[in-house]
Amino acid sequence: MARTRHVIVGGGTAGMNAITTIRQYDRGASEIILVADERPYSRMVLPYYLKGSISESHVFTAPPTRLRTLGVEPFIGRRAVGVDTQTNTLMLDDDTELPYDNLLIATGSSAVRAPVAGADGSCVHSFWTLEQAQGVIRGITPGCSVVLVGAGFIAFTILNSILALEAQLTVVEIAPQILPRMIDATGADVVTRWLQDRGVTVRTGAQLNGIEDTDGRKRLRFQQGEDVMADQVIMATGIRTNLDWLQDAGITINRGIVVDAHMRSNVPNVYAAGDIAEGRDAVTGEPALHAIEPTAMEHGRIAGANMAGQSQMYRGSLLMNIVEVLGLEIASFGAWDDANAEVMSALRPERPAYRKLLWHDDRITGAMILGPARDVWATNDVGILKGLVQSGVSLRDWKSYLRGNLFDVKRAFIAAGTTGRLLPQTVLGRPSVSADSIAIQ
Ligand SMILES: Cc1cc2nc3c(=O)[nH]c(=O)nc-3n(C[C@H](O)[C@H](O)[C@H](O)COP(=O)(O)OP(=O)(O)OC[C@H]3O[C@@H](n4cnc5c(N)ncnc54)[C@H](O)[C@@H]3O)c2cc1C
Repeated sequence: MARTRHVIVGGGTAGMNAITTIRQYDRGASEIILVADERPYSRMVLPYYLKGSISESHVFTAPPTRLRTLGVEPFIGRRAVGVDTQTNTLMLDDDTELPYDNLLIATGSSAVRAPVAGADGSCVHSFWTLEQAQGVIRGITPGCSVVLVGAGFIAFTILNSILALEAQLTVVEIAPQILPRMIDATGADVVTRWLQDRGVTVRTGAQLNGIEDTDGRKRLRFQQGEDVMADQVIMATGIRTNLDWLQDAGITINRGIVVDAHMRSNVPNVYAAGDIAEGRDAVTGEPALHAIEPTAMEHGRIAGANMAGQSQMYRGSLLMNIVEVLGLEIASFGAWDDANAEVMSALRPERPAYRKLLWHDDRITGAMILGPARDVWATNDVGILKGLVQSGVSLRDWKSYLRGNLFDVKRAFIAAGTTGRLLPQTVLGRPSVSADSIAIQ
């Protein structure tokens, strides 16, 4: 009997987790083909590579030897350019045609630059791929001035590294506040002051109009206000899903590839996972694109299990963003900006510390927390608030206590039995195994 042929497009977190999960179940019984235009690596560790705290070799997640132990036939450096879902064939950029039984689309996202004149000029970078990270590393020298255009989550993941390279940093953001899709205005004020006190220039409500070359430097012009001069410009102005190659494939696409709880698209043998997949949000139950690592990992594992013949349903992904900047922990979870939720918040400007809980009845459906990382409670409470949102545990007996004691969430977490609710929750409904132990037999 012919072996089942799985074709995986994309060697990022989602694709690699799907591969190891298939092998966890079938130990080599199927064929796996990986098509990826880059060598498999983790984008999430690129900030550490930029800072110099890890070497380039530690960025890669699956060198050729690992792919061999997983029994994967690699097509690395090749792009998928089309798919025929009638004949079950994937087309590559060198005219190779790959027949499949199951196809996983895990092509992630790409960085998008602000559409202004000069955005594609020299010394203007994106920071999404390894190649782009290498460009930034080449560009930054001690004492040079760097402008980060965009003050969202990705910009904040590289902020520490840019400062560690001894650059002068200016952050400009078009929205009225920094981190507009991660924290509210009160939290943003706290973070802005924290950055300014540590020598970072922050400018909000700043619409970039263009980037010009002046005397070997970059001049950034804005709709209003003074120009800003820079040696290097990093655009962290958003991402878009890599869907363009799927036109006319008959796969239902909304903001991403629409998938069911099995990570299956409308075409039964075509799955999608990671940044590209529009799956279920665990808190709201609504379809959502969550361009974050935990979602890519969980999507990949669910898709891999189902491709391997299991029937695994996904409970949905938890939106979460956690970042530490210059010693300040910043995190938000779930529906942190839900206008229909009941809100409790508390601010201690002197620490500084801020937190906000969003409730529906006796459950916390969203949370936000800021606090100095050196305060153990701040770091602990990041995990506690995540657990409370993720578990959806009833806090009936603790709600009124928390109203007056928002900085004491630990007692409510323990008393409500949150750990007991979370412990049995594994993505695949069985104990995890170390990825390194998975190989073909
Ligand atoms: C600097 C940075 C820091 C980050 N930090 C965090 C963090 O702290 N926490 C967090 O949760 N998330 C973080 N993220 C986001 C996280 O990295 C992504 O959500 C995650 O990589 C998504 O995984 P994925 O497998 O869906 O896509 P990707 O990792 O983007 O992988 C997609 C793969 O598909 C390949 N590909 C694309 N198109 C094609 C094609 N047509 N043919 C063949 N191959 C193709 C790409 O080359 C790539 O190998 C960060 C991202 C960046 C850039």
